[in-house]
Amino acid sequence: MNKKTITDIDVQGKKVLVRVDFNVPLSSKDPNDDITVTDDTRIRAALPTLNYLLDHGAALILCSHLGRPKTAADLQFAMNPVAETLAVLLDRPVIKVDEVVGDKAAAAAADLRPGDVLLLENTRFEAGEKKNDPQLSEQLAAMADVYVDDAFGSAHRAHASTEGAARAMRAKGGPAVAGFLMGKELEALGTAVSNPPHPYVAIMGGAKISDKIKLIDNLLSKADKILIGGGMANTFLAAQGYNMGKSLVEKDAIPEAKSLLDSAASRLILPVDVVVAEEFAAGAASEVVDIDAITADQMALDVGPTTLRLFGQELEGAQLVIWNGPMGVFEFDKFATGTNQLALILADLVDDGAQVMIGGGDSAAAVRKADLTAQMTHVSTGGGASLELLEGKELPGIAVLDDA
Ligand code: ADP
Ligand code: MG
Repeated sequence: MNKKTITDIDVQGKKVLVRVDFNVPLSSKDPNDDITVTDDTRIRAALPTLNYLLDHGAALILCSHLGRPKTAADLQFAMNPVAETLAVLLDRPVIKVDEVVGDKAAAAAADLRPGDVLLLENTRFEAGEKKNDPQLSEQLAAMADVYVDDAFGSAHRAHASTEGAARAMRAKGGPAVAGFLMGKELEALGTAVSNPPHPYVAIMGGAKISDKIKLIDNLLSKADKILIGGGMANTFLAAQGYNMGKSLVEKDAIPEAKSLLDSAASRLILPVDVVVAEEFAAGAASEVVDIDAITADQMALDVGPTTLRLFGQELEGAQLVIWNGPMGVFEFDKFATGTNQLALILADLVDDGAQVMIGGGDSAAAVRKADLTAQMTHVSTGGGASLELLEGKELPGIAVLDDA
C-alpha cells in the first residue's frame, strides 16, 4: 500500500479535484427546512488535507456523496448545509454549484484562482456515480489538473468519483494521489494486514449483518478468534437454534452463520447472556437473561455482564484487536453498557501495549460518546472499507492511485 500522497506532488497554481467524505448527519429530512449539519467530525477530518493544498497554492474542487438520494430531485441530500459548515471551518468562502458535472460546474471550476474552494453537488445525484460511468469520471477529471482521494470510507467501491475519477486523471497525465486522511488510514491499518501481531482478536457487532457476515470467513484466516456481539450475534444464536424472540435477526444470513459455526465454532465466541426488553425504546424496561431464556415478546438489545467477562478473558494478552460494530443499541444509554465496557477493556489493552483499531461509523461514534477515541491506537473513518482492507482485499479506490 505504498501510495503517493499530496506531499509527493506539486500543486502550486493547480486545480485539485478532492474526493472527500462529507457524508455527515443532517438535522432534517425536509428540504423546505433550514437543514444543518449535526456532526461536523468528517468535515473537520478533511481540513488537514484541504488546508495543506490551499497553503501550497492550489484551488480546490471538492466532491462527496451524502446520504442515499434516490434521484437528483432528492433535495434533502443537497450539499448546501455542508458548504456552509465548511466555509466556517476553512474560514473562507465556499462556492457551491447545484450540479456535479455540466456547464455550470465546469464554468465555476474554470474561474477558480489559487485559494478558491468550489463544492460540487452530491455525487449520488448522478446515476453514473455508483455505476462507475467513465463519462462522468472524465467530466469530473476534466475540471482539474490533479486528483486527490481522501475518502477512505468509499475506497472499497469503484464509483465514478473514486476509482473512476482517479483513472480518468491518470489517463490525461495528471497525478492521482492520497490525501492525509487516506494516508493515515493506510499506515495504521497496513500493519494489521501485512504483519499482524498475535494473539489477534477481531470483534464484530452492529446491525449490517448480511454485508459483514461475508467478511468473517476471510477474517478467520488472519485473526485467532472472533468475538461476536450486537445484532450480528443474534443471527448466530438463531443459527444455533436459540429462540431470539423479537430480536433483530437476519434470516437470510442464517445459513451463512451455520456454515461458519460448522467450520470454526471454537474460534467464534458468542454471547452467553443478553439484556432484553419488550420494546425498542430508550426507556424500555429491561432485564438480563441467559441466551436460552429469551421469550417470544423480548428482544436482545445489548450483551450481558457474563458475556462481557467472557469477552474480557478472551481479550487478555491480545496484541492486536480490530473492532467493528457496537455490542448493543448504544444510542439508548440503557443499552450502551456492553459497548462502553468493551471500549474500556480495549483502552486498558492499549495501555498494556496492544494495538486496537476501531472501524465503522457507528462504532467510531460509540467510542467518541464514551470519550475514549484518544485512547485507541486508531479509529478508522471507514466501516466496510476498513474491514475489506483488514481481510486482505485490494480496495479499488486505493489500487488505482499512483504508486510511491
Ligand atoms: P458500524 O456503523 O460501526 O459499521 P453498524 O452500522 O453495522 O455498525 O451497526 C450499528 C447499529 O447497530 C447501531 O445503530 C446499533 O443500535 C445497532 N445494534 C447493535 N446491536 C443491536 C441489537 N442487538 N439489536 C438491534 N440493533 C443493534
Ligand atoms: Mg453504521
